[in-house]
Amino acid sequence: MIASDLATAVDGLRDLIEGSQCIVPFTGAGISTECGIPDFRSPGGIWTKNQPIPFDAFMTSREMRDESWRRRFAMEDKFGGAKPGRGHRALASLYRAGKVPGLITQNIDNLHQASGIAADDIVELHGNTTYATCLDCAKRYELAWVREKFQASGQRAPDCDCGGYIKTATVSFGQAMPTMQMERAEQLTRDCDLFLAIGSSLVVWPAAGFPLMAKRNGAALVIVNREPTEFDDLADLVVRNDIGDALAPFIAN
Ligand SMILES: [Zn+2]
Repeated sequence: MIASDLATAVDGLRDLIEGSQCIVPFTGAGISTECGIPDFRSPGGIWTKNQPIPFDAFMTSREMRDESWRRRFAMEDKFGGAKPGRGHRALASLYRAGKVPGLITQNIDNLHQASGIAADDIVELHGNTTYATCLDCAKRYELAWVREKFQASGQRAPDCDCGGYIKTATVSFGQAMPTMQMERAEQLTRDCDLFLAIGSSLVVWPAAGFPLMAKRNGAALVIVNREPTEFDDLADLVVRNDIGDALAPFIAN
């Protein structure tokens, strides 16, 4: 059912949320657009102007590693101050109420953590861009440290003490999906009785698999997304209203 207006959407959401014990939100770029972070895949998004750097190019080319960090710091200056939006805050409220054992996200912006959900309870399918790791020894590096080295060396990407390359903790194109995160996401999806897909077009693998998996295991499915998705017919409730508007009533103070 597609909610005919905002009030119907909120009522439908409230009924489903109140009637469920275990809610698993699955979020995509749409939840962060009101925070000023563009949907990188959308037409006119950054990726249509700047082709993403594939993982093997990062591994084989120093120029690409330097370029990758140059872009990352340019992004930091533009979006680094982003704060959680109404959607993030509503999900954090459900989490604090004990109804959300974990959240799955395609986003790399760290805004769910910033909204108060423990990092351990967030499954990041595409990693996190707000810190970096060594690709060989997995040592964590903060962006400020990388930036200082980058600038001091005339814009060269610093390497780890072990000789490994330091990269944002994101999953690049061509880089293997994190197995443990995928398994946790599947477990959460199988165990929930309400699956909330929010702000994702649900086309990019592996996102497309989760709504089906939830439905097959008997969960109710809600899709909150501006654009139609191919799972709308399967959903118990489809909300095409603005995500912040639809979720704001669920923010608890
Ligand atoms: Zn290392």
